[in-house]
Amino acid sequence: MSVDTVSLTGWGRTAPTTALRFRPRSYEEAAATVRGCGPRGSIARGLGRAHGDAAQNAGGSVLDMTALNRIRTVDAGAGLVVCDAGVSLHRLMEVLLPLGWFVPVTPTTRYVTVGGAIGADIHGHNQHRSGSFSRHVQELELLTAEGEIRTVRPGTGLFEATAGGLGLTGVILSATLRCHRVTSSWMSVDTERAVDLDDLLERLCAGDHRYRYSAAWIDLRARGRATGRSVLTRGEHVPRYALPAHARRTPLAFRPGPLPAAPGLVPEALLGGAPATLFNELRYRGAPRYRIGELQRLATFFHPLDGLPQWNRVHGRAGSVRYQFVVGPGQEEVLRRIVRRISQRRCPTSNAVLKRFGAGDPGWLSFPMRGWTLALDLPAALPGLARFLDSLDEEVAAAGGRVCLAKDSRLRPELLTAMYPRLADFRSLRAELDPGGAFRSDLSRRLSL
Ligand SMILES: Cc1cc2nc3c(=O)[nH]c(=O)nc-3n(C[C@H](O)[C@H](O)[C@H](O)COP(=O)(O)OP(=O)(O)OC[C@H]3O[C@@H](n4cnc5c(N)ncnc54)[C@H](O)[C@@H]3O)c2cc1C
Repeated sequence: MSVDTVSLTGWGRTAPTTALRFRPRSYEEAAATVRGCGPRGSIARGLGRAHGDAAQNAGGSVLDMTALNRIRTVDAGAGLVVCDAGVSLHRLMEVLLPLGWFVPVTPTTRYVTVGGAIGADIHGHNQHRSGSFSRHVQELELLTAEGEIRTVRPGTGLFEATAGGLGLTGVILSATLRCHRVTSSWMSVDTERAVDLDDLLERLCAGDHRYRYSAAWIDLRARGRATGRSVLTRGEHVPRYALPAHARRTPLAFRPGPLPAAPGLVPEALLGGAPATLFNELRYRGAPRYRIGELQRLATFFHPLDGLPQWNRVHGRAGSVRYQFVVGPGQEEVLRRIVRRISQRRCPTSNAVLKRFGAGDPGWLSFPMRGWTLALDLPAALPGLARFLDSLDEEVAAAGGRVCLAKDSRLRPELLTAMYPRLADFRSLRAELDPGGAFRSDLSRRLSL
């Protein structure tokens, strides 16, 4: 097992902290690391795609799980895969697609591990239909604070605390996943432009049930009558029989093809308001007003940013904050007010996405709940950002909504109980399971999880 001392951040590159990083290659090595982790505890880490400090542990241990990356069995008839928690969704796609299966849920990057996907109970563009990742987990193996391995199944408190539990109930060693049947690796994509926020909400309500995948890019620089204008993109897997002749030759091929890396650091002059406005204008006007049935490769549809490997440098030296919240149905006025406030403030936001969530899953700290969710990136160095986001949090909490903890790097702990009603259960299960605090992270200390 390799061991080194490293400075780690999340994908947002803010608040680096130093930890002893272990890279276990077997369950025994992982168990030995947890048993010997010392007073600052330990936390599992996948590919470090969480935006904030969920996979950091200042002065303690971090278990880099990426060497535990075997796909153990694939039942190609039933679409069941048993794999180590350090396997990435990218690798699963490489193996499963030629067999006619696709991961049940993917975030907008495929460079996340199965352990990270369960630990954050990630959602994809199919959340309104398929729920979040943990809904598709049949069982998992969890390494507990005592260094024992437990098999954990849905319907138990331990499963519900672990799904979205940010690594704080133990280290996920492996999982059995139910996958989604596909007969090609192509997507049929419908695109439409919404002229403002109300137009977008109407379109999402009217049509989302017809699509497996749906999400809208929203121009948060647009103001006045154009506030909330968006490009809505929805898609379905194309059945093999419906492919054009050129694609039918290798219907299940998976060829993502990376683009050249982004520059080391983007000049800060390019990050300001005017370039952001211009970029958004071009993106909005460049999108079709209405186009149906465009054929796209899976990676183009789901993971456009994976082609730019160092995309997280785009917000400059200080890094970025990802802010994602959800408010329930009936709280559209809160959503409108928040979108208006962000637009009026002229924040140089990027990568802003609005979606409609369906019912949430039972994970006690899982983020999705039925309603409207908005996610956006903001430069961490933006003056007054902390106060601004605190005030948005208050609106979200007062409306019965919540912010996403896997992306968080700055939430105030007072609002947590209002946002996550099962927090008390989570804390008491942790106190019982791990009285000595073997599992800790910067996030768990910051939010007293
Ligand atoms: C470009 C980009 C797009 C994204 N899009 C989405 C999206 O669409 N939807 C969404 O939900 N999220 C999205 N995310 C967030 C990302 O999916 C999650 O943060 C995910 O958890 C990252 O997985 P990871 O393997 O990198 O885990 P890490 O970031 O390393 O860890 C994340 C959390 O999982 C825990 N964890 C990791 N491995 C294990 C394990 N083996 N056992 C127990 N706990 C573990 C960690 O302790 C930590 O709390 C996106 C992130 C990026 C960078």
